[in-house]
Amino acid sequence: MKTILSICLLLTTTCLTSAAQAKLKALIIDGQNNHAVWPKATIMMKQYLEDSGLFTVDIQRSRFTWKAGREQAFLKFAGLAETEDRPKAETDPDFAPDFAKYDVVVSNFGWGAADWPEKTQKSFENYMKNGGGLVSIHAADNSFPLWKAYNRMIGLGGWGDRTEKDGPYVYYNDKGEIVRDHSPGKGGTHGSQHEIPITVREPNHPITKGMPLHWLTTQDECYAKLRGPAEKMTILATGEDQTKADAKGRHEPMLMTIQFGKGRVFHNTLGHDTPALEGVAFITTFLRGTEWAATGKVTQTIPDDFPTRDKATSRPFKLRD
Ligand code: ZN
Repeated sequence: MKTILSICLLLTTTCLTSAAQAKLKALIIDGQNNHAVWPKATIMMKQYLEDSGLFTVDIQRSRFTWKAGREQAFLKFAGLAETEDRPKAETDPDFAPDFAKYDVVVSNFGWGAADWPEKTQKSFENYMKNGGGLVSIHAADNSFPLWKAYNRMIGLGGWGDRTEKDGPYVYYNDKGEIVRDHSPGKGGTHGSQHEIPITVREPNHPITKGMPLHWLTTQDECYAKLRGPAEKMTILATGEDQTKADAKGRHEPMLMTIQFGKGRVFHNTLGHDTPALEGVAFITTFLRGTEWAATGKVTQTIPDDFPTRDKATSRPFKLRD
């Protein structure tokens, strides 16, 4: 009897412990981004992840922030040590997250971010090679143009003097064929912000499974003419810019996955500013992609308010007390 009781106690403890440990550990990294919304974007993403019930979230930030001004009020919610907003992005020599503690890392760095210390870059490369997870949001694919391994992780990038030396342009044409174009030219452009029509190209991938084949984003930038190594990259969904004449017939990668060693990368080009970050399209793809990058699976269902071909949907953000 005593033995049975002990087993029961042991099982209960194990069950309770595993329930407490069941949440995935996410780390959002930020601090330098030409998009002034970034401090708010980090808090929005943190809240989305926590509210899904699947994640615990930490934030780690470059001590020398850049362009934090507009959403300064959101910085304090991170519960981090004091930061200093600098007129120019500068390398924080102490930026060294313990990546191995996390199932997935979300990058909210952006264009113009200063390189991380070399040791931190190497530590992140090892984390990813050994099976880590990375989520690249919007301008995170503008950052670190000279860091080769990072560019292999994100597959495609833009701006930062990216050209044919960095890899081909990759997009779908009107016939539904993938084009890899090595012709010379700058990487990265976008038209005016608008509701972007999206076409799902891989409907059986865990991230896109159950979505309608066509849906609309909220007001966002349609990143275009990105270029990069594009190795082991799967394009899940494309978007066609409706504001530029020369964008017709170019269906640009908007959602991608990339394999880097044993690591999984989810690359989401959406998320320019508050209206984009409040879009159900952004929230859903971000949450599903982050779970997939962490585990290789998606357990979440597609929400009832997911957009359709003709109607974008949005959830006004409310900061949790
Ligand atoms: Zn943008």
